[in-house]
Amino acid sequence: MSRVHSYIGLGSNLDAPREQVERAFDELARLPHSRLLARSPLYRSAPVGPPQPDYINAVAQLETTLPPLELLDELQRLEQAHQRVRREHWGPRTLDLDLLLYGEQTIDHPRLQVPHPEMPRRAFVLYPLADITPELTLPSNTPLESLLAQCPFEGLERLTSDSQHREP
Ligand code: ADP
Ligand code: MG
Repeated sequence: MSRVHSYIGLGSNLDAPREQVERAFDELARLPHSRLLARSPLYRSAPVGPPQPDYINAVAQLETTLPPLELLDELQRLEQAHQRVRREHWGPRTLDLDLLLYGEQTIDHPRLQVPHPEMPRRAFVLYPLADITPELTLPSNTPLESLLAQCPFEGLERLTSDSQHREP
């Protein structure tokens, strides 16, 4: 089975978001046939969509031999375990796990689009991703660096390990 590097976007804005994200990192580290290679710093981001609390976001780098849809199943199982309530599209959630990248693959499946289509426009994905792998190139041959150049660090705050221990 081939081993790929995959990137997961984590987000939460309900029920102690930092703890939700920290816990999710630990859970990702325990996924079958996978190894957690890196955790980005946490970021606070202003919400998109309906009025709601700020988000805590981060990105995880995973080495895995799980096929992409099985990885998605695992991510959705973790979302469920965090008692995520799907109230509305882009609405508040206890945990959102997005499969951002799966090796070099481009996937267009009814359940799974990779690279995640919103990625190029989301500062809260691009900046933590760059903390882990600044040299990354996307399957379209686009350097992450050029996406960053077009995506202002707006409404985003990088949390220091110090402020990570303070409550929001
Ligand atoms: P969003 O994260 O865009 O706010 P949701 O998390 O509610 O929205 O969307 C979940 C749906 O998106 C799932 O049904 C899942 O099958 C689909 N989906 C498509 N591509 C991806 C991806 N790359 N990562 C996660 N879910 C995806
Ligand atoms: Mg999602």
